Amino acid sequence: MHRREHWLLVLLLGWSLLAPVLAAARTPAVLGPETASLDLAPHVRYLQEAEPRGEPARMFERAQAGEFRPLPPGGPVFGFQRDTFWFHATLLNRNPDEPRWLLVQKYPLSDYVDVYLRHPDGRIEHQASGDRLPFDSRAIRYRTPNFEVRLPPGQPVELLVRVRSESSMQVPLALYTPMAFAELARDAQLGIGIYYGILIALLVYNLVLWLWLRDWSYFWYLFHVGGFGLVLFCLNGLAFEYLWPNSPLMQEWCVPVSICIALAAMQQFARHFLDLEHRWPAANRLSVAFLVFFAVMGVASFALPYRISTPIVSAAVFPNVLFIVIQSVVMLRRGFEPARLFLLAWAVFLAGTAVFAALAFGLLPKNFFTEYGVQMGSALEMLLLSVALGYRYASLRTENIRIVQETNEKLDRTVIERTRQLRTAMAQLGEANVQLREYSRRDPLTGVYNRRHFHEAFEQTLREVAGRNGCLALLLADLDHFKQINDTYGHLAGDDCLRAAARSLQEALAAREAMVARFGGEEFVAVFPCADAQEALQVAESVRMHIHQSPVRSGKHTIRMSISIGVHTVTPGREMTPEELIKVADEALYRAKGDGRNCVRHSMSVA
Ligand code: GH3
Ligand code: MG
Ligand code: MG
Repeated sequence: MHRREHWLLVLLLGWSLLAPVLAAARTPAVLGPETASLDLAPHVRYLQEAEPRGEPARMFERAQAGEFRPLPPGGPVFGFQRDTFWFHATLLNRNPDEPRWLLVQKYPLSDYVDVYLRHPDGRIEHQASGDRLPFDSRAIRYRTPNFEVRLPPGQPVELLVRVRSESSMQVPLALYTPMAFAELARDAQLGIGIYYGILIALLVYNLVLWLWLRDWSYFWYLFHVGGFGLVLFCLNGLAFEYLWPNSPLMQEWCVPVSICIALAAMQQFARHFLDLEHRWPAANRLSVAFLVFFAVMGVASFALPYRISTPIVSAAVFPNVLFIVIQSVVMLRRGFEPARLFLLAWAVFLAGTAVFAALAFGLLPKNFFTEYGVQMGSALEMLLLSVALGYRYASLRTENIRIVQETNEKLDRTVIERTRQLRTAMAQLGEANVQLREYSRRDPLTGVYNRRHFHEAFEQTLREVAGRNGCLALLLADLDHFKQINDTYGHLAGDDCLRAAARSLQEALAAREAMVARFGGEEFVAVFPCADAQEALQVAESVRMHIHQSPVRSGKHTIRMSISIGVHTVTPGREMTPEELIKVADEALYRAKGDGRNCVRHSMSVA
């Protein structure tokens, strides 16, 4: 196809689509016998003027002269505007049974809405409403401005509507029969009821959880839901209707202030939920900056004009939610699992709010989804957030339990390890103690018991044999001329001799369960059980001989020793102290020395 033909086709097609719309705009809006309600958008033409006050009669003329234009394709939505908007339509009532109709401006926040009706006889009727006038100015107590219009059947009546507003310029006009309006109001009220029902249920449920769990995330969530509920309560005109019907001033403040509260609560909730303070301090600082901004804007909103404060705080919704989404994404990537549902909730909210804001700024046409985008998005968001809170609580609890468990296990392992080390140390200490005790009983040079131990053991043995038959042999032995050995071979050789003597004594008494001890110097003592003195003497004699016949090798010397032994046999029953007994044995030894040494003497053989 040729390029020119191509354009021609496009033009033709465009005209064929536009022509009916343009034609419809000029033709009157006909209210037939079957018409219950009529959206006036296709029939309305509008004029935008900087001058706030125009003479209505003159504006009717200008409309007739074709100075008014059809509505933009998105419908009667123009964004924030300071100009005055005029809307014109011709109404023709063909329903003979219904002379009374209700004109409804379906956007609740317009400041001043003036309605002029020009009848065929030239008479002009005027009614005024809008949220700068007391609520009672409305024909019917309803959340958006509405006017009762009388349309005599068969006569065309011209409608002129003037709107001035600091809020978003949205003028969706519709006509209803009283009955149709009752139904519209009923359906809308049901929708609103469901929405606030969800909000209140979430508020109560999470309030209980907050009181119960004392997790401050719940508190900020409540703040967020409450703040948001208030925003919508203001936006859809219910706050004006039910909370302050006589205060247009409150109505002016409530939108920006409640938006600031809701945004601050939103940011604070996210900050707390994601634990930014600990998990991401940089974002935490920015989050606090957001909070400060909302606080300042909230206070400033009482002083600033609506047309300045509201667009600013409305625009702040986007960076605020976007920042929360970024926080969630980052926290999720860092492995904070509860951020997943949190993110989903905000995505849903963002979608709904974006649609609504785009509508407010005139970027999207008005329809059910754009108008109720915020409600649907926010209801879903709040539900999801409530679930996310529960999930977060559960997962934090699981994490806590896991940490406690791990700590306990670690503690257990440490305790076991420490106990094991302690046991080993105790065992070593015990061994060392046993060894120490053994050392303390032994004579370091010869290895036989020392004198102190001998005394203790001897006393013990005496007590044990006290009630028994048989007797105990006590030998006191002293090496002969030992001084001479020392003098001749040296002190070290003397030590060797002492060791050898001790060994010989032990060997000779090995079979007798004897206790051998070094008594001091070159004196030894031995105790063993025996049948009688005879046997004791025989053993003593064998000891003496063993020593005498065992020469000691020390260095290059071979040293022959002899020993003198005093024997005493202890008979049970005769009470004597160990000292007395030793003394008696020592006397026998003394006699052995006196009798020429290298011999054995018994304590009884003196007589
Ligand atoms: P006697 O036949 O009368 O017993 O004469 P002795 O020389 O054996 O008796 P004395 O009591 O005069 O001398 C004992 C000597 O034993 C004196 C001392 O130097 C020596 N002596 C004591 N203890 C030790 C020791 O641990 N090692 C050495 N090498 N000699 C010791
Ligand atoms: Mg001696
Ligand atoms: Mg001596």
